[in-house]
Amino acid sequence: MLHNSAGDLIRATPERGSATIARMAVADHEAVPAVAADEAPRSGTVVMKFGGTSVAGPERLKNVARRLVDARDEGNRVVGVLSAMGDTTDDLIDLARQVSDAPRPRELDMLISVGERISCALAAMAIHDLGHEAISLTGSQAGIVTDTSHTKAKIVEVRARRIHEALDDGRIVLVAGFQGVSTSYEVTTLGRGGSDTTAVALAAALGADGCEIYTDVDGVFTADPRIVPGARKLHAVSYDEMLELAAGGARVLQIRSVEFARNHGVRLHVRSTFGDAAGTWITQEDERMLEKAIISGVTHTTEETVFRVEGVGVARLFAELADAQVNVDTILQSGEGIVFSAPAGDRPAAERALSGLGAEWSARDDLGKVSLVGAGMRSHPGIAAKAFATLDELGIVPEIVTTSPIKIACYVGLDDVERAVRALHDAFELERPEAERAHA
Ligand code: ADP
Ligand code: ASP
Ligand code: MG
Repeated sequence: MLHNSAGDLIRATPERGSATIARMAVADHEAVPAVAADEAPRSGTVVMKFGGTSVAGPERLKNVARRLVDARDEGNRVVGVLSAMGDTTDDLIDLARQVSDAPRPRELDMLISVGERISCALAAMAIHDLGHEAISLTGSQAGIVTDTSHTKAKIVEVRARRIHEALDDGRIVLVAGFQGVSTSYEVTTLGRGGSDTTAVALAAALGADGCEIYTDVDGVFTADPRIVPGARKLHAVSYDEMLELAAGGARVLQIRSVEFARNHGVRLHVRSTFGDAAGTWITQEDERMLEKAIISGVTHTTEETVFRVEGVGVARLFAELADAQVNVDTILQSGEGIVFSAPAGDRPAAERALSGLGAEWSARDDLGKVSLVGAGMRSHPGIAAKAFATLDELGIVPEIVTTSPIKIACYVGLDDVERAVRALHDAFELERPEAERAHA
């Protein structure tokens, strides 16, 4: 399915330095399925998701077990969703590549889905040793049903009966993140970062009171704290802002998980696995958010390929790309042809589709995307002017610019990405605590 996660007012610079407005559309995120529980939700259910760093090693797994037991002792029905330990998923993918240049996606899914299963089984053992009952489940056993698109499957249904039964028995339920079973009974995975989506889909299906995302940073920051040391933790972010931040490369939440949260009204709390401090709430936008910061954050990604295509109509081109399961992001049509971006991982599939069309095309992977996101942007003119002036001072000319009512994204040379992020963060004074939102 064609997924235009940026889809919006799109401007471009066909020639360096000459930005033109090319097309306008409305921000369009994909619909998510109704995952309504097959049983009535019970109150007091919490879903707690732990990322790779949180479960990287036996001691950390024991800490996770303790946190889950504490939540159970407080009287909750507790579902833990775990990622694979540390770099396990990367290591498994490396292993596959050492065996085969082009592993088939079905087998890749059989392989990489085991990482999450290891974490869950170990956590269940640790919980048993703390004197509590727990059961680990694969995605399939947990009733996570997906479409048939291997390595980037989408959840189409959650059959939560088995989880409910285990919870009714007083057990802590550990669900392997990032995976499901397809409508043709194959093991599938949900794309990188997919455990977030498992957790939110379960929270929606179980009617959970909340979904806690435990990770290796204190919450959602004004920029990737690894790139901008002065980045500040945000108290609250609206679903729409978080969608744009995730689409812009803020890895902290998989974009699909935010789509689920928004459509099902699941309140997310992104917080550190290493302490008890409050993190960032992802919720419905409210007035306090709008009164406060104009800009919530600057994000970046260096993992997109930008294609330029000539000699084929848009309808045919995007139908082919959709068939090839290419996740198209930015689309721009101008007199000289069509430009679109897609995740670097989709490049081989996109190239096959383009070659099949007999079109003239070229691909670039020397560009990165830097996005400025903020709900307050809607009511404050001059944000784009300030952003472009900031880049101009650095001698950076964006090659493509795309905007939505709450986002301005610029494609710049890969070498310029990090300095552009830092300069925009400075220019909009995002490190200042005064911009903090009093919320939640
Ligand atoms: P997990 O394994 O817990 O799922 P991820 O590595 O997927 O963790 O996501 C957390 C990482 O996201 C952080 O370590 C951080 O480097 C990165 N990140 C990028 N942008 C942001 C941001 N704006 N706020 C917080 N973290 C961010
Ligand atoms: N282990 C998977 C990954 O590394 C899923 C996740 O961590 O969310 O992408
Ligand atoms: Mg993640």
